[in-house]
This record gives sequence, structure tokens and C-alpha cells, in this order.
Amino acid sequence: MTNYFRSNVNAMASYVPGEQPPRGTPIIKLNSNENPYPPSPAALEVLRNIDGEWLRRYPEPFGGEFRQAASKVLGIPSDWIIVGNGSDEVLSIVIRACTEQGRKVVYPMPTYVLYRTLTEMQAADVLEIPYQENYSLPIEEIIAADGAVTFIASPNSPSGHVVPGEDLRKLASTLSGVLVIDEAYVDFATENALDLVREYENVILIRTLSKGYSLAGLRLGFGIANPQLLSGLFKVKDSYNIDAIACAVATAAITDQEYKNACVAKIKASKNQLATDLKQLGFIVWDSQANFLLVQPPQGNAEYLYQKLKEQQILIRYFKQPGLEDKLRISIGTDEQNQTLVQALTSLLKTGE
Ligand SMILES: *Cc1c(COP(=O)(O)O)cnc(C)c1O
Repeated sequence: MTNYFRSNVNAMASYVPGEQPPRGTPIIKLNSNENPYPPSPAALEVLRNIDGEWLRRYPEPFGGEFRQAASKVLGIPSDWIIVGNGSDEVLSIVIRACTEQGRKVVYPMPTYVLYRTLTEMQAADVLEIPYQENYSLPIEEIIAADGAVTFIASPNSPSGHVVPGEDLRKLASTLSGVLVIDEAYVDFATENALDLVREYENVILIRTLSKGYSLAGLRLGFGIANPQLLSGLFKVKDSYNIDAIACAVATAAITDQEYKNACVAKIKASKNQLATDLKQLGFIVWDSQANFLLVQPPQGNAEYLYQKLKEQQILIRYFKQPGLEDKLRISIGTDEQNQTLVQALTSLLKTGE
């Protein structure tokens, strides 16, 4: 077949998302950091009452209703918010607006694998800098690289650690390019970087309703940055990137903070219990401020355990990547799901190689 693609597209690998089995598959799904609880009842009520007239018309191009609601909840003006079809789209918008061949995208590893895919699509240069021991940030190397875009996920995936505020401040004040702080898991953390956005014009925070608000299937994420930075991003977004249904449902969900906070509290308690149980089985468990745990099985046989659990309809995440081959990432489920997982691991460790 004729080669129709740009050379960087030929050269790049596809992003491989976590396995998403068909709906109805009887499976305990702890591989994509979804929230085990249903979305806010208020959000589901809005969904049930969607008017056909909203679908006949084009949606509001900037998700105004959601921006107003998020503005109230966060105490940030609504014109500091950009809404996207999932936060993945906001990441993609930043890459499209700020990078090109010859410009550098920099981030510490291991982290969210999509950063690499998006950068390669754009034919920009990738510089991956390994995290130091115990996930301390290689800050001097990141500063020296001075990327056109620097990504920091905090809490990071798959490690679950939060990057200290003073490190982020140092990056924001030193880098000449854009600092993207990906806060997909911020709802489960004890700190956030909102202050930095107010202070530094090169900082954008990325948030999502997929994790904390149980709306991964809806596809709604957003960015927070000063209107100057957003004006460049708005130029490259699709004209109607957020559909009318997603905007209305997400507005109700983010307004219902009480429900989200209650789910988060349950997940945090379950996370502590799961960490205790796994440590008792001999796992090393990293401290996590997200809704998942990075763990190292006592016999180092991570891939074997991943496979065996999958045979028992329990899906967790295994990354065949330097530094992660002997580790597993487990999303926090309900207490019942976590118990089933712990029981399965207990017998696998007894019989394991
Ligand atoms: C899940 C995740 C996202 C993507 O979230 P969506 O809003 O569902 O696109 C972004 N960044 C990180 C680090 C994530 O883990």
C-alpha cells in the first residue's frame, strides 16, 4: 500500500490504553483507575432529562455552563478555564499549540504514557528524564532541558506520589516554556497547585471528571490557566469539542461536591485497608495520594500475578517498562472487590513460582 502518512506517524507506536472489556463482562476491573462508585445522582438526573432540542442545536463552543459551575467550586474566574473532551484532549491541545519539530517536550519517567504519543504525533522532540530513587524529581535536569512544554503529573501515575509544591514553584519560575501540571488525581490528594496558576503565566493545571467524579465514559476534562495562555489554546481546539450532554451532566457532577467528597472518603479508607492487607502478604506498597496503589510483589513475579488474576476475571495494570517490570498498579475498588483481589493474591502467592 502507498505510504500515506507523515514520517513521524510511521515511526511512532500507538498508545495502548488499559484493557476495556465489553460492558456486561463479569470482571473486577482495577486497571484504569476508574471510580468504583456510580456518578452523582444529580448528574444522572440531568442525564435522564436531556431535551432533544439540545441535541438538535450545536453546543455552546466553550462549555460555558460548565465553566461557570467549575469557577464557583474552585474560586477561579470562568475565563481561566478551558474545557475538553476528556483531559486527554486538553493535553493534546497544549501540544498542538506549543510544540513542533525542533521544540522539546520534557517530563520525568515513569509517568502517563500518552505524553509520549501526543509529542510524537506532533513530530516534536521527546526528552524523558528518569525519576530519582523514591520518585524524587530530577529537577536540575528538567530545568536544564528547558522544554517548550514540561509535563508533571501530580499525583503521578503509576507511582501515586505528589510532587512537592516547592519543586513545582521552582519549575514554574525558572522554565521559559509552559509547565503542565496534570492533576487527574487531585481529588484524592491533600494538596494542589492552584496557587501557582494564579502566580505564574506559564502554568496550566489539567483536571478531569473521569476519576474523582466517576465519569470516565462521559469524556470531560478541563484546564486552568490565565486567559492569555488560554487564548492560544482556544485557537487550536475543535470548534465544538464538548458535546451538549457531557457539558450538562458534568455541570451537575462538579456542583455536587458533597457526593464526590463522600466517594473519595470511602476510596481513601479502602486504599488504606488494601495497603495494610498487601503489606501483610509481603508486598512493598508505595505511599499513594491517588485512587490506586503501586506495589511490588514479594517474589517479584508481577507479570505472572497479572496474568493469573486476569484468568480469574480480575484486571489490574502491568507495565512492561524499565523500573516497572516487577511492579503492579492496582486501582482501588469497593471493599468487596479489594477483598476478592487479596484472597486471590493470597492463594497465588502460596502456589506461585
Ligand atoms: C486518567 C488520566 C488522564 C486522562 O483523563 P481523561 O480526562 O479521562 O482523558 C490524564 N492524565 C493522567 C495522569 C491520567 O491518569
